[in-house]
Amino acid sequence: MDDQALLRYSRQIMLDPIDIAGQQRLLAGHALVIGAGGLGSPVALYLAAAGLGRLTLADADEVELSNLQRQIAHATADLGRNKAESAREAALALNPGCCIHALTAHLDGEALAQAVAAADVVLDCTDRFSSRYAINAACQAARVPLVSGAAIRFSGQLAVFDARDPDSPCYACLYPPEGAASGEGDEALSCAESGVVAPLVGLIGSFQALEAIKLVSGAGTPHRGLSTFDGLAGQWRHFRVLRDPACTVCGKA
Ligand SMILES: [Zn+2]
Repeated sequence: MDDQALLRYSRQIMLDPIDIAGQQRLLAGHALVIGAGGLGSPVALYLAAAGLGRLTLADADEVELSNLQRQIAHATADLGRNKAESAREAALALNPGCCIHALTAHLDGEALAQAVAAADVVLDCTDRFSSRYAINAACQAARVPLVSGAAIRFSGQLAVFDARDPDSPCYACLYPPEGAASGEGDEALSCAESGVVAPLVGLIGSFQALEAIKLVSGAGTPHRGLSTFDGLAGQWRHFRVLRDPACTVCGKA
């Protein structure tokens, strides 16, 4: 790190759990952010600002007027642009030293597997069940930790699934695919269909960025279980999540 970098990251370096060594791990780290919308916006901006050295931002959608209420990496002038490209530009404006790659095609199959395997941490910032299961399976296969976030209406949640930890559950342990297919629960709905209050995605996305920074820098201990936030009541809740031995993704069967 040169003097400029030491100054830029000084407020993190002065934190004992991060220190110079943790900041250097961040600068050498690579995060894959899937979805550059409501959650992906604060994730991309905070990770770039914090000095995560390499970011891959994946989103095939274009910026629409109804996105701007909450997807703060995009400005009015970005309407019609690809979201990954738009978020890349916003993150680079914050920190030109960050190496940011935009993936503008829908990420699935072999491309998803390769992108996940190349990353130190994956942040699921999508809002579709099908994408969530595919990302979870790819992270389990490549043994890359997954920071999962969701936000809808006034409610949000976060969980970290670390395939390197034999005791860690996976997304499919928490939400078995057969239950999700029937469309039970809020999370089966998208923000486009159900609405979402603007700062909620900032809250959950910032929490995701924090967990990714901890995982890459080595600070603290990764979040365990499931945290949910009820924005109308202003209350967090925490739930234990156990690994399901019969899970179709991470189970031994
Ligand atoms: Zn599982």
